[in-house]
Amino acid sequence: MIDKHTKDRTRVQFARVLVEMEITDKPEQTFWFVNEYGQLVEQEIEYEWLPVKCKHCGGFGHIMAECRKLRRLQKRLQLMKLKLKLSQAIKLSLKEKKKRVRRPGS
Ligand SMILES: [Zn+2]
Repeated sequence: MIDKHTKDRTRVQFARVLVEMEITDKPEQTFWFVNEYGQLVEQEIEYEWLPVKCKHCGGFGHIMAECRKLRRLQKRLQLMKLKLKLSQAIKLSLKEKKKRVRRPGS
């Protein structure tokens, strides 16, 4: 969709164009058009606004620092590390008990 000033070329400093696209598509950086001299011209696009996209989960509307999925993953990893430390501590404790039990008999 092109506004009236752009279509009529009454304000030529910039053109404002509404572009509808799939949210998963990468925004175009340039586009081609035929100018008033019949020349094919490549024009760079400046976006006034683009949706924020998370670098972790790819979701829109939040950045990685605010990602709930990443936070849940970090909590799960923390819990797994704690469980691993606990199981290692239990194994060490069992080894110590076995050593203590063997000593008097050996
Ligand atoms: Zn995210």
